[in-house]
Amino acid sequence: MRKYSIFSLARNALSHHENWWQAWRSPEPKKRYDAVIIGGGGHGLSTAYYLAKEHGMTNIAVIEKGWLGGGNTGRNTTIIRSNYLWTASAGIYEKGLKLWEGITQEVNFNMMLSQRGVLNLGHNLQDMRTIERRVNANRLNGVDGVVLNAQQVKEMVPIINTSETNTRFPVLGSSYQPRGGIARHDALAWGMARACDDLGIDVIQQCEVTGIRREDGQVTGVDTTKGFIETNKVGAVTAGNSGVIADMAGIRLPVQSRPLQALVSEPIKPVIDTVVMSGAVHVYISQSDKGELVIGAGVDKYNGYGQKGSISVIEEQLAALVELYPIVSRLRLLRHWAGCVDVCPDASPLLTKTPVDGLYFNCGWGTGGWKATLGSGWCFAHTIANDEPHPLNEAFSMKRFETGAVIDEHGAAGVAH
Ligand SMILES: Cc1cc2nc3c(=O)[nH]c(=O)nc-3n(C[C@H](O)[C@H](O)[C@H](O)COP(=O)(O)OP(=O)(O)OC[C@H]3O[C@@H](n4cnc5c(N)ncnc54)[C@H](O)[C@@H]3O)c2cc1C
Repeated sequence: MRKYSIFSLARNALSHHENWWQAWRSPEPKKRYDAVIIGGGGHGLSTAYYLAKEHGMTNIAVIEKGWLGGGNTGRNTTIIRSNYLWTASAGIYEKGLKLWEGITQEVNFNMMLSQRGVLNLGHNLQDMRTIERRVNANRLNGVDGVVLNAQQVKEMVPIINTSETNTRFPVLGSSYQPRGGIARHDALAWGMARACDDLGIDVIQQCEVTGIRREDGQVTGVDTTKGFIETNKVGAVTAGNSGVIADMAGIRLPVQSRPLQALVSEPIKPVIDTVVMSGAVHVYISQSDKGELVIGAGVDKYNGYGQKGSISVIEEQLAALVELYPIVSRLRLLRHWAGCVDVCPDASPLLTKTPVDGLYFNCGWGTGGWKATLGSGWCFAHTIANDEPHPLNEAFSMKRFETGAVIDEHGAAGVAH
């Protein structure tokens, strides 16, 4: 891999940046691969990367129907953290956070990781009890976290309204994970595509998977808009479209696809240097490097595959925002957008084998999979390469909905599902 560095920057400046090398190839699909990953989002690309890096499988392809990161990877609000309640969740999300901490150096691409901390607000006594329980559970699992009172929240976030008299949902305190923060989403897609390409993986865009062929219960290949590709291992990492891919193989997944919206304000001077979330009033906020306030909310309350949501969610989100941060009331919105998220009934993901041999699913990350991108890819690569889950993702199989061993993370999700 040719390295990006201060020297390559200076050299290319001399030729007006017109001679930068190509970051990755755009190959035509081969007839056969040892594994095919469907979905060129962060999870699909990182799965392919770790398949090659950790398991030596380099004859693989990532098939993306649109452009890299054009799904939820490029549409999220970039928050990363690992402070989930249950031990199984702490394992996989913390693995993800640790990988985030090293990935910039590892793949020589600046992911703009900013560990500016994440606060989850509590607005009533029960919120505060669950926050205390979760922070204690986090610490037992080796995940950093502290509980803050309202005054400490105010010191950290001066623009927040902590008045107990003129708010419907007063701020009583919060959890705080100092190692949480944000990372740049398009950088992840491009950096991992470049790293995949360097390891010999074919990253194929504008190619839609339209069918999954099976013989005697074993995957034999995928039909695509660029022809049939033979393979005995298929990893489906298609977020909101996972149910559609499952249908191609005659499987039903316990996921529902819903729109999830986000928006940004016009850019302003720095006013907030951390990330603040509130599951109770359904709004969260951070500030981008450009100065925009990045604002997110809960899912729209209907199923669908459209990447657009309804105005009522924005209205509720902005009402909550203005109550919590009165100084934003005169700000103009710059743009808003939506993704299509796949939500499991217990708000935890699926990284699972299926009744079809050689077909694996990594989905159900709902509103919170960005932070887990690398941990998810790392575990899923192990699952595909060895045909069995890694201990870190064993609990996240489809079987939990038969056995009842669900992993209920609704309380730790940033926003309500
Ligand atoms: C508005 C919004 C805000 C969010 N905020 C956060 C946040 O702050 N923190 C957080 O942790 N998470 C957040 N999330 C969730 C997070 O973005 C996702 O969980 C995560 O990015 C999913 O990544 P992925 O690679 O699995 O999916 P995607 O990036 O959606 O990739 C799936 C890819 O599969 C492709 N595909 C689908 N069908 C086919 C087919 N038939 N053939 C070929 N390709 C196909 C799609 O085109 C897509 O590119 C947010 C999501 C949204 C929408």
